[in-house]
Amino acid sequence: MKEQGVKEKSLRASPRVRGWCPGAWRPMATGDGLLVRVRPPLGRLPRARMLSLCEAAENWGSGLIELTRRANLQLRGVTEAGWPDLMAFLVEHGLAAPDAEGERRPALLLAPDWRDGDATVEAARLLERRLADWPALPDKWGLALDAGPAPVLADVPADLRLERSIEGGLLVRADGRDLATPVADLEAAVELMTRLAHWFVDTGGLAAGRMRRLTAPLPGWAAATAAWAESSDDTPILTPGPHPHGRVVGLPFGRASASALRAVLRDDITGVRVTPWRRLLLEGEPANPTLNTQESAPDEDLIHDARDPRLAMDACPGAPYCAQASVATQGLAQALAERRREGSGESAAGRLHISGCAKGCARSGPAAVCLTGRDGRYDLILNGCADDVPVATGLGESDVIEYWETRDASRL
Ligand code: SF4
Repeated sequence: MKEQGVKEKSLRASPRVRGWCPGAWRPMATGDGLLVRVRPPLGRLPRARMLSLCEAAENWGSGLIELTRRANLQLRGVTEAGWPDLMAFLVEHGLAAPDAEGERRPALLLAPDWRDGDATVEAARLLERRLADWPALPDKWGLALDAGPAPVLADVPADLRLERSIEGGLLVRADGRDLATPVADLEAAVELMTRLAHWFVDTGGLAAGRMRRLTAPLPGWAAATAAWAESSDDTPILTPGPHPHGRVVGLPFGRASASALRAVLRDDITGVRVTPWRRLLLEGEPANPTLNTQESAPDEDLIHDARDPRLAMDACPGAPYCAQASVATQGLAQALAERRREGSGESAAGRLHISGCAKGCARSGPAAVCLTGRDGRYDLILNGCADDVPVATGLGESDVIEYWETRDASRL
């Protein structure tokens, strides 16, 4: 069935929303088996641990590794029978906490281009030593440590943030508030974050779930009086290619095979930093011309070129990987990317979002073109999110490709 024009709200597809986040100790059953999520400490894995993760993906999973929008790494396709051995391997290689309790601490998301000794990474080290004293918090709770001159993690959800004021001073920002709390130094920041975590729980935060939903005013000892520095349009989000710390590679639609990752983890790579932007920062010698040109050709497995059209696309795992999906997403995304090879990567006008259902896991904001799966077909949404009202429904893959080549929704 094909339809045109703005539809009524009844056309919005309804996702089944899950309220918890999987981990390694609490894997999630999905369409292709268990999903096991690994949280790299301080947002980084040394090369040897990253290689161990590749080995784990091949031995116990489907061989794929995904990078999530919260900068976690995950394995797919793990069986119930294989999971205990996988966990023993992950713990032995420093890829999982020794027990489920250790995994329940709030996630620390670091601005990925930190330098040794800077405020972002020092705050993370101080916090790690305090987190054992923190109360139990909701699964999705997280902290963004983003203390460079201008924030780079503003688009990533976080309940507490360490940022800078317009004047350059340190601030702690509780999500949902108009102003932030100035602090004298990193120790004071960590102390304030710890007190705010306890205050959140004591004032009903567990029922609210997230800091932004807790409407209680901040206590007097955390008076918010300062504006934070805004991210500027030219704040660099790591682009594939050379970087002062090494080299950036993109994971098409957030996933890559373990073998492709192993191939770029050459001896001169010391570690891998995760990011919330579906790209990894490979730590190494930035000036090494071989490091930075050898894999520069377009590649199906990894993105090495800032002009790659897949950088302007978001696609969730879709069918058969996610049980909630009724359509495939990644194959269609790749097919559409090939028809946009002459695009200009992130600077290409408008984004494409392909979502297996209306939950829109791959992108929460609007996209110029969004394709949402429903009952085995695709809805077309223009300038909207996965659960917005479509301009056309019931499309097959050939309809989508035809639209993509003409950009003319009136022909549908
Ligand atoms: S958006 Fe994609 S990954 Fe998320 S629940 Fe729907 S089908 Fe699954």
